Amino acid sequence: MNSFRACLLCADPIKKPSWLCHSCRAQHGLGARHADWPRWLKDLHNHDQRLERYDAKVPTVSLDELEEAGVQIDTHGNVYWGGGPRALMDRDLLRAAPYDDDDANRMYRKASGLE
Ligand SMILES: [Zn+2]
Repeated sequence: MNSFRACLLCADPIKKPSWLCHSCRAQHGLGARHADWPRWLKDLHNHDQRLERYDAKVPTVSLDELEEAGVQIDTHGNVYWGGGPRALMDRDLLRAAPYDDDDANRMYRKASGLE
């Protein structure tokens, strides 16, 4: 779990559980107590809290993990996996054999009018 977040006001990185950096707190005369904050800051805080909770729920995959799994991304943002770039660059082949099972592929090609 990341122990840093962005300051609500200036977006500088600060250590959790703080929501405001020292300079913003001093500049706006804000205390550490959430209950003492003005309404606009509480609204801002609620919004960011919701975003943080949402982010925590969404699984993320690092580029290293993708690379380990054999996924490649070229400079144009194209994604390749399963045997290197050719596997996906050959779109006709992919379209004609999207399943592991040969029978399923034959039925798929027939139904798609490719055979
Ligand atoms: Zn700040």
